[in-house]
Amino acid sequence: MTDAGMATVLLAESIQQALQWKAEHGEKARFAGGGTDLLLQTRSGRLKPEVLIGLPPVAAEVEEEGGVLVLPALATLADLAAHPLLRSQVPVLVEAMNQIGSPQIRNVATLAGNLCNASPAADSAPVLLVYEASVVLAGAGRRRELPLDRFFIGPGRTALAPDEMLLQVRLPLPSAGERALFRKFGPRGANVISAASFSARLHLSEGTVAGARLAAGSVGPRPLRLRDTEKALEGLRVSELTAMVEEFAVRRTPAGNGAGATRESLQAAVRRDISPISDVRGSAWYKGEVIERCLCWLFGRLGGESR
Ligand SMILES: Cc1cc2nc3c(=O)[nH]c(=O)nc-3n(C[C@H](O)[C@H](O)[C@H](O)COP(=O)(O)OP(=O)(O)OC[C@H]3O[C@@H](n4cnc5c(N)ncnc54)[C@H](O)[C@@H]3O)c2cc1C
Repeated sequence: MTDAGMATVLLAESIQQALQWKAEHGEKARFAGGGTDLLLQTRSGRLKPEVLIGLPPVAAEVEEEGGVLVLPALATLADLAAHPLLRSQVPVLVEAMNQIGSPQIRNVATLAGNLCNASPAADSAPVLLVYEASVVLAGAGRRRELPLDRFFIGPGRTALAPDEMLLQVRLPLPSAGERALFRKFGPRGANVISAASFSARLHLSEGTVAGARLAAGSVGPRPLRLRDTEKALEGLRVSELTAMVEEFAVRRTPAGNGAGATRESLQAAVRRDISPISDVRGSAWYKGEVIERCLCWLFGRLGGESR
């Protein structure tokens, strides 16, 4: 045990010990993964935990269990992003994790920390939302599983009980023929918190969007699934989407034209799904525009697809 500033620091040698200490100290204590969010927040006085519980290092041993990938959430982002199973099965998640901060950050920051910090800008979240991932939460002597979409409650707020730790992230293995994408936007090209981020996972069948999962970051109080936009996309012909790329970007399709109606209904769905606010990284207007442009970019990437 050491004293760092105002907080007592306890370094757990096992997950069990960390859980036991958390059960004892409850809301007065915070787990510290890599500390890349937590230490800045305690230094600035935004958070005032009385106890910091340092979590033990955990290897990035990703496993497949009955069609589900199980990710140890306490592993670092760098180690997870290097895992062969993730690289081959969910490259878009690797892509998103590799865009979090810098190599120095990713070498210590954990996936659990990225999610439990509950920032609307957490870059792993949109991809995990489109894969309909769930989180395994452990308390002293019990475990429960929750869809990630229900884990985020608001900025800095999660469904974690005071004695719980995020232990695992579970995501169903993608099926063949799916397309998935991730993109983030910010004032710099790298090492930047997202002003807006977007992820899409589409299942195409016989030239039609048979299934769509979309999510975005930094455009609402928490990372969001774009459910109305998903519904508006499902059933549309791929050829219709690729044909409207240019019109979508410049809003040029004549009113009354069929493609114009589809474009307008998609854009209206995006506006219903998101609730951006202006902040230091971008205006609400800019964030809304970015998500619409991401749809456009997505349609452009479908060119030539007929599956
Ligand atoms: C320079 C810099 C650049 C950054 N760039 C990005 C970026 O591009 N994209 C991005 O998304 N983030 C970015 N971040 C934020 C941060 O690095 C990530 O969110 C990171 O994944 C946090 O992980 P961590 O292990 O360091 O979390 P910590 O700081 O240790 O913890 C964060 C929060 O989660 C809680 N917590 C941690 N682990 C657990 C657990 N297992 N169970 C329950 N609660 C837990 C802590 O108590 C704390 O409240 C950046 C940060 C810095 C300093």
